[in-house]
Amino acid sequence: MAAQHVELLPVERRLERVRQIARVGVLRDEPQQDALACTAHENRSGEPQPHLFVGDVPRILAVIAAAAVETGVPVMVHTNASAQTGLPALEALTNAGVDPRRIVIAHAGDSNDLDYLHAIAGTGASLGCDRFSIEHFNSDANRVETLAALIAEGYTDRVQLGHDGACFYDFMVGNPLFADERPDYLHISKNIVPALLGAGVTPAQVDEMLVDNPRRFFAPAG
Ligand SMILES: [Zn+2]
Repeated sequence: MAAQHVELLPVERRLERVRQIARVGVLRDEPQQDALACTAHENRSGEPQPHLFVGDVPRILAVIAAAAVETGVPVMVHTNASAQTGLPALEALTNAGVDPRRIVIAHAGDSNDLDYLHAIAGTGASLGCDRFSIEHFNSDANRVETLAALIAEGYTDRVQLGHDGACFYDFMVGNPLFADERPDYLHISKNIVPALLGAGVTPAQVDEMLVDNPRRFFAPAG
């Protein structure tokens, strides 16, 4: 279907097409693409481990890109900020034709490296400032400080603020790194927004992050 008519597709038909592309693309038996090597990161025990775009990951990214290009749905990709995998993920998606303005690099908020965050936002992609309250990835104090700096620099329209939380994660059970995890869907409203306001962020900028940016992200591609 011609791209200019994609916005006319009912939502359910577009989602069904995404599912079709995913089923065909992920399950097909083709040689794997070259792996994209990334730098080391830490595993759950804290031991440095190689972090690679290997196995099914390149294929899954290719399938996601195909679905996004054909249907116009946006892409949110959850990444490892310490290994800075947001950049190769972004490169893989945009090389396959996805508009960076339709991509959120989730977990970018785990990083306080402004060079890394500028590199993502400079492409037009959005920074997923999420995982508040998961202190061992990044403390809330550091997350707020970094986000306030980005906003002061003019990146407000490139921020997607969210919890990336769930009521229950089985992989957290028994893991001491997550012992203090208390998923709370009101954490941003109750604690993070007041902290941002205290750091000099304006109510209009908060609204831009919580209302305008997600609205633009989920709206049909124009
Ligand atoms: Zn995530």
